[in-house]
Parts: sequence; structure tokens; C-alpha cells
Amino acid sequence: MYSADEIIVQLDSPTDPDRALIQKAYDYAAEAHKNHKRYSGEPYMVHTAAVGYKLAAMGMGPRTICAGLLHDTIEDTPVTSEDLKNEFGDEVLFLVEGVTKLSSVRYYGTDRHNESLRKLFVATSQDIRVLIIKLVDRLHNLETLMHVPAEKQLRIARETLEIYVPVAHRLGMGKLRKELEDLAFPYVYPDDAKRVTELLKKKYGNASEILERERKVLQKRLAEVGLRDFKTSYRVKGLYSLYHKLKRKEWEIDVIYDLMAMRVLVDSVEDCYRTLGIVHDLWRPLPQRVKDYIAFPKPNGYRSLHTTVATQSGTILEIQIRTKKMHQEAEFGVASHVLYKPPTVTDVVKQPSVFSSLIPSLFRPFRASATKEVIDKTVSLTPHTQKIPRWISQIGQTYNVDSKNPTSDFVADAESDFFTNRIFVFTPTGDVVDLPVGASPIDFAYAIHSEVGDHTAGAKVNRKLVSLDTTLKNGDIVEIDTKKSAKPSPKWLHFAKTSVARRRIKGALEQEI
Ligand code: MN
Repeated sequence: MYSADEIIVQLDSPTDPDRALIQKAYDYAAEAHKNHKRYSGEPYMVHTAAVGYKLAAMGMGPRTICAGLLHDTIEDTPVTSEDLKNEFGDEVLFLVEGVTKLSSVRYYGTDRHNESLRKLFVATSQDIRVLIIKLVDRLHNLETLMHVPAEKQLRIARETLEIYVPVAHRLGMGKLRKELEDLAFPYVYPDDAKRVTELLKKKYGNASEILERERKVLQKRLAEVGLRDFKTSYRVKGLYSLYHKLKRKEWEIDVIYDLMAMRVLVDSVEDCYRTLGIVHDLWRPLPQRVKDYIAFPKPNGYRSLHTTVATQSGTILEIQIRTKKMHQEAEFGVASHVLYKPPTVTDVVKQPSVFSSLIPSLFRPFRASATKEVIDKTVSLTPHTQKIPRWISQIGQTYNVDSKNPTSDFVADAESDFFTNRIFVFTPTGDVVDLPVGASPIDFAYAIHSEVGDHTAGAKVNRKLVSLDTTLKNGDIVEIDTKKSAKPSPKWLHFAKTSVARRRIKGALEQEI
């Protein structure tokens, strides 16, 4: 089990209050979970200490680490929100409550709802740090998944591939994504995982030995031409991403060029291009394989130079060249921005909407929604351009790479404040309906179909009968009872929020007169 000291030494330059805070959270969590065991039989604290450690190793700030240590206290122990507020303050409480809320995101196990679930997952967490803690929590749960009962293993592993991996990808957290994928893969596709592992072994035997040898060749050359302060590393492609590629290439491993990759980290952009020249001089580049993601970053903000070469010994190597800062961003994505300029308590607690408004830009490709109402969205525009903390607008810059004026694009997105003003509720079969905050079962009924709305007789929320003026919440499962004889009532206008519902109700009432 990681000790508090092992966690603290991961911090860059911790102050005495930082150390004290982490030690206190560590002891507090240990006490809260003292009668609580993992499936493995180990003390529960093994899990929370591991989450705290991983967050610290990623470079997250002391309060995020604290929240990681405490993330299961509200849900699994007698500790209350009030207790955490008194002991650790508003910001840590805000993070722990966010993580606790995310546990209620349900996974239905059918493909067609996963996109909506990912949206719900992100919408439910109002702060990027909440998502990061949740992802790290899941990572440790996967690392210890062998101890979990078999029927639970499959659900957790599938949920990871369907929900957590895409979220990690959107956040640009490449390292975490690969770890989650490779841990979940053998549980979800045991036969395929075996096949991929064997194929890889048969083809390359000891891939790291090959890579180690080629690395020395490259290091020597870089030093010869006078490059200082570079770092090299290598990796073999993740099993799960190799699996997807193999499926596309009819299981022909010889046509996969990025199986083995070497990475060179240098100090400046200029050195990146210089290194590329050196590599091409040393090894023969494959045609059409040079990619300049520095001049043209990927949509998730990824920057790097890529090339594929054939070495003297015939090994096909993908070479990635980038600066150390670009590397930090590629490994930890949004998290690396959180750590460059940690938000203050005021940022988080007083302006949660600013944080959540960052999120739509991460999910832009998924935003098109049939039920989204233009009118509701226009009303909800909040001009808080002035208040957007600088570190958030910096993230915006990396996400709008196609635009000539990335920052203003991002700001426009942030202003639309999509998720803070929307909720996502489910039909009993798991379909997701996207509604404005404050919506009632009547709004839900009209969003399903105008005929359903017109004949609404009653509603159930989470399988309990409720009155029609009930305010729906994120994640509610809503069921509408219809009767042929039922018809719109003037009372409905007091709580119908969507323009579709209001227009339709008014129309029906006018017809009666
Ligand atoms: Mn946990």
C-alpha cells in the first residue's frame, strides 16, 4: 500500500500546508475505510491510496490528490458532505461530491446508448478534475479486476471501453487511454486478446530487444551531430489498438507500420525539425508517412512530428519527435493544463458553469442532437467572456485547430454553456432525451412525440409515480402513461419549459375554444 510520504514525494515542490493536507486526507480516509475490505481481501485503503498516488504521479495538485484519497468516503462510509466540508473545505468537497455523483451514471450494455452515456458522464461532472479522478479510480479498479466476481468483471470492462476510454481520448489523455484499453481488452474479448498476443510474439519475439538496439544507434547519431538534452524512449503498440488495426487489415501484421515506435523529446520546435532531418539521413523513410502535427495539430490538440523508417536491420519503426511540453500534453492531455495553472477555489466553487462550459468543446463532434431546441439554447446564452480563467482559454486554443481565430471560437462555445443548461434523461428502454434544466415530464412527453404529449395521463420517474409538474434531473428514467381521453390542460403551461411543448399545448387549448 502506498504511504502518505510516497504520495507527497511525487509533488513538485510541496509547501508545508500541502504536505499537511495530504497527510490529513490520507489518515482521514484510512480511518473512514478501516472496516472495509476490497474483493482481494486487502484493506480498502489500498485502493484510495493508489488513486491518490496515481494523481500525484500525474502532477495533479494537492487538493485533487486529497479528493482522490477521499473519493469513496461519502458513498461507502458514514462520512458526510458536512464532515468533508468542515475538515477539508469547499473545493475538496466539491471534487469528492462530483466523483460520487458520477457513480450513478448507468450503463445499459447496449451500443446505441453509449454516446449519450458519454455525454451524461461528462455533463454530470462540472469540473475536469472530477473526470480525471474518476478515470484514475477506474484505472485502479481495472488493475485489480481479477479479484472481482466474474459477472461483474465483464460489465466493468465493457463500460470502460465504451464510456471511459472515449472520455480519456477526448481529454487527450493518451497514456491513460492506452492503459484502460489494454487492461479491459482481455475481459471483453478474451479470444481475440489471446490471438493478438500470440501473433505479436510470433512475429517479433522480443520487440523491446530490437527497439533497445535501434535506440542506441539513434542516440549515438544525435549526440554526434551535437544535439544536447534530448530524451529517447520506445513503446510497442497497445494490444487493443493493434487489435482494431489488425481487424481492418485482415489480420496481416506485416502491413502495420506503427507497431514499434520510438520517441525523441527535444527542447524546441526547431530541434524537432532538425531531428527529423537527422533521422531521415540515418534511416530510409517510407514514402507518404511523414506527418507534421506541429504545423497542423490533430483536433484533440496533439502535436508531434511523425515519420516511419526502415532501419538497416529491416525493422519498421515509427518515429515521433516532439518537445517536452508537447509530450506532457500528449500524455496527460487536459490534465497537463490543469497542472500548469491550477484553478483557485473561487474558480471552481463560485463559477462551476465556466468549468462545465469548457466541456462542450471537447465533445463537439457529438453535439448534433435531434431534440436540441434552438430557442432554448439562445435564451440560455450567458456572456461571461470576461470571467473565463486564462488556463481554460489556453485549452481552447489547442482544441480549435482548424479555425483561424481559435480563441474566439472557443469562447463562443463556452458562452453557449450547453451542458449547464441541459439535462439528459432516459426512456425506460434507455433512449436518451436531451431537455433544458427545469423540464417536467410534460416536456419529456412532447419531446418523445406530440401525440404522447397530447394524451399524457400520468408519469413515473425512476419507476415511481410522480405529479406532472415534477422537475426532472440528470439521469432520471422517465415513463409516460397515456390515455386516449387525456388532453392538454391550461395548468401544464405553468411548468412546460420547452417551446415545442408550450406551442403544442397552446394550440390544443385554442382549438377547444
Ligand atoms: Mn473508487
